[in-house]
Amino acid sequence: MKYQSLRGMKDILPEEAPLWQKIEAACSKKFQQFNYQEIRTPIMEMTELFARAVGQSTDIVSKEMYSFTDKGNRNVVLRPEGTAPIVRACLEHNLISKDKITKLYYFGPMFRYERPQAGRYRQFHQVGIEAFGSADPALDAETILLAVSIFKDLGLTDLEVDLNSVGCKECRPRFDSRLRAYLKGFIVQMCEDCHIRYKKNPLRILDCKKPTCQNITNEILQKIGDSDYLCADCKDHFEKLKSILDSLSVNYKINKRLVRGLDYYTKTTYEVISSSLGAQNAVCGGGRYDNLVEDFGGSSVPAVGFAIGMERLVEIMKLKDQNAKLKANVQLYIAPLGEEAKSKAVEYLQKAREAGISADMDYQDKKLKAQLKIANAIGAKYVLILGDDELKKNIVVLRDMQANSQEEITFEEVLARIR
Ligand code: AMP
Repeated sequence: MKYQSLRGMKDILPEEAPLWQKIEAACSKKFQQFNYQEIRTPIMEMTELFARAVGQSTDIVSKEMYSFTDKGNRNVVLRPEGTAPIVRACLEHNLISKDKITKLYYFGPMFRYERPQAGRYRQFHQVGIEAFGSADPALDAETILLAVSIFKDLGLTDLEVDLNSVGCKECRPRFDSRLRAYLKGFIVQMCEDCHIRYKKNPLRILDCKKPTCQNITNEILQKIGDSDYLCADCKDHFEKLKSILDSLSVNYKINKRLVRGLDYYTKTTYEVISSSLGAQNAVCGGGRYDNLVEDFGGSSVPAVGFAIGMERLVEIMKLKDQNAKLKANVQLYIAPLGEEAKSKAVEYLQKAREAGISADMDYQDKKLKAQLKIANAIGAKYVLILGDDELKKNIVVLRDMQANSQEEITFEEVLARIR
């Protein structure tokens, strides 16, 4: 073959697309119920935007950005995530006000130059939300509930919510110093990435997947209580969030390793994990980011949001239901036999479509058996058969593919029946 798609970038084929549409429809419905509005931002942004928001030392910014210089000598990047562009757009178009909560959602492709593996791609899609304007833990809870209810609507139940708090400007530096002090004697035994994290962002060491590093941090985590590293304000926020989730009957598990790979998070972080996925088992990641709007030059506006990985969600749906590759939903397939019937069939086809019925036919003068085979393959509900006899009598044969029965009726009756 002469050309192939780029490594880590995949085509979403027609057999899978209906599943994507089903998920997108379920999300849109939920977003409407929770009063979120759609925003679409460009897939390219200034490189600086992510360096600032996501953090210079994060994997995303330091290793994974598709950044380049454009013809106008600007440093641009294919967006690696959705939050920073949305904050940028909100400030550019004055979408955030202090008097009300601004709630937005988005769908779209993201780009990260990661090592491709199952569930990890270089172009992948996220559906996400951002809510600006309230520091109340009830808003954190609302976003978690929104994610959970999307999964529930899609019939997915074997998912777990992991929850943590990474503190704020006040307590985070103190926790960083405490971690450095704990790890001082052990850091020589840890991986190279952790050496860098130790200097730049020690909290990220808790997120390291290497067994040696995890063994060392296990001991530390046992010594640290659920929230004793947090300041009074963060602790109070975390406790309130937990009790709201309890009252809403949302199951969650405290995971002190959940520090997330993006620097903008403050207080709450969470992930939704699927036991049916492999190593890349997070299907949704989110949390609070109370400083980002101000860091971008706006006023001090607290915010919280999440992003769901579409490819992983599609994968879970497929694993749950092997038949999840939905067939195209053609209601009426028209099978003419002969030249004269064909021109009448074209007319019927148009009339059926105008009547709001999904209809199709094959223009290649195939025999009836071959046409029925196609109708079956595309999952047509009914087949309208039209030959010389039927033309003369001004009727058609309507075949019900499921019931395996057929009858002679007029075309008008066909329309009424299907509608
Ligand atoms: P993040 O923006 O890193 O918080 O990721 C949010 C969600 O996007 C994750 O939970 C995954 O479901 C998905 N995701 C992140 N990176 C990738 C990737 N490289 N390939 C596929 N899905 C991804």
